[in-house]
Amino acid sequence: MQYNTFGESDGWRSGHPVVVPLLNGKERNRTPSRKLLNLLHSVKVMVCDRCAKEPYFDKLCKVCFVGQIERRIRKDIRANAPVQKDDTLIITDPLCEAVMKGIIPGLPVTITHDDHHVENIGKRVLLWTLDDEIHHFLSRFLAGEEFPDLGHGKDIKLFLSLREKELEAFAQAKGFLYTPKPKDRLRERIDQFEAKHPETKFALGKSIEDIRKAMRAAENLPANETTLS
Ligand SMILES: [Zn+2]
Repeated sequence: MQYNTFGESDGWRSGHPVVVPLLNGKERNRTPSRKLLNLLHSVKVMVCDRCAKEPYFDKLCKVCFVGQIERRIRKDIRANAPVQKDDTLIITDPLCEAVMKGIIPGLPVTITHDDHHVENIGKRVLLWTLDDEIHHFLSRFLAGEEFPDLGHGKDIKLFLSLREKELEAFAQAKGFLYTPKPKDRLRERIDQFEAKHPETKFALGKSIEDIRKAMRAAENLPANETTLS
């Protein structure tokens, strides 16, 4: 067995959280009991919240994290931007393409990388996060513009359910390069707020969605179409 002990761990000595590969061989494939996980957490051993492997992001190991993120994207797209048979999808980003293909396996759609000629017949699949949505909404709102995003667009904001940090970690886990968007003052302020109050971005996203739905209802527009106009 190759169990590390606290005394031997560099992490322990340097004051960083200790990561201990606790389960080996066959044991790794078994889901540890809640009791064991609680015990590990109580002694501040950092392990995945679901399977006790080495954590990767936000208390989850790489496999559990990627699974959680993919489920969240799938659920969001099905509910808010469904893709139908024979749709033409305009996708210019490799990560978006890989994720989209994972969401709609077997569905006969046309995927094109050329966004110049087919915009009026296709749905653009955008690398668009919750951070982008909040920034887009607030910057327009603060500039005193009319309520944005009420038009008849068909864009699919693929990562609307993810915060940028989650997308960054997800892209890395999947072997894709993702460069975060440049931070202006507004993005920095939102990040600072999120650091203090961790559910800020999800709450803002929910509020924006609620406002949009209410406005769409008032204008007699369908509830789930999105646009960047
Ligand atoms: Zn795990």
